[in-house]
Amino acid sequence: MNYKNQSILLIFISAIVSILLICLLLISNYIINDLKINDVFIPITTSLKDVGEIPTSKFAYLTFDDGPTHVVTPAILDILKKENVKATFFVVGKEIEGRENILKRIYTEGHSIGLHTYSHNFKKIYRSCDEFIGEMKKTSDKVKEVTGFSPKIIRFPGGSSKRLNDFTLIDIHKNNYKVYDWNVNICDGINPNLSVSELIKNSHTIKGNKNEAIILMHCNSNNKTTVKALSGIIKYYHDLGYTFKAITTSTPEYYYRFKN
Ligand SMILES: [Zn+2]
Repeated sequence: MNYKNQSILLIFISAIVSILLICLLLISNYIINDLKINDVFIPITTSLKDVGEIPTSKFAYLTFDDGPTHVVTPAILDILKKENVKATFFVVGKEIEGRENILKRIYTEGHSIGLHTYSHNFKKIYRSCDEFIGEMKKTSDKVKEVTGFSPKIIRFPGGSSKRLNDFTLIDIHKNNYKVYDWNVNICDGINPNLSVSELIKNSHTIKGNKNEAIILMHCNSNNKTTVKALSGIIKYYHDLGYTFKAITTSTPEYYYRFKN
């Protein structure tokens, strides 16, 4: 190979090397750019995840049975007002006598009123379906007399389990009532002497659907510890992202499965 040919070959090799180098540069630049794009995407995705906490679908329903009572019901209302939380009171008709102002307060402060029979006497109310519905109607009339409002949501004393069946449900629905049991029980009805910490601990157990907590509590005259535990129960559900709601006829019915 003469000198001229050697030079041409050298120039040719240099050109190929240069092209390869340029290609390499372009590819690495592309990779870097790509990484930059990904880098930009990462925080965007993260921020979208943060935005994801806006829609909440976890609801907590605080429910108080057996009232109204002179001391406990107003004390519960005071706490609910302070915490800005709406709740549901399943009232007993005979307890309204002489406590009309307390029932009125429940209503004017935006809580829901439900029916929990007139006598709360198990032997009487569960004698027949007619008796049971008759007691609800009597209580509804009393609530209407005081507040001007006729409740349509009901709770079985002791729960609907083994008491509700296809036939009674038809009658209940014919009268436009909706049934609400519970899936959280702080056990203040069975044992009003439980400590504040025991009541709060009991409120943490949700049976079934964890996104809907229907919490059973009582406002009998002996439920003073329930009053003390209430803020702690509200805090627990609030911190977990639950929204507090009162039960209305728009709330899907909740009753225990029954065998026909
Ligand atoms: Zn009760």
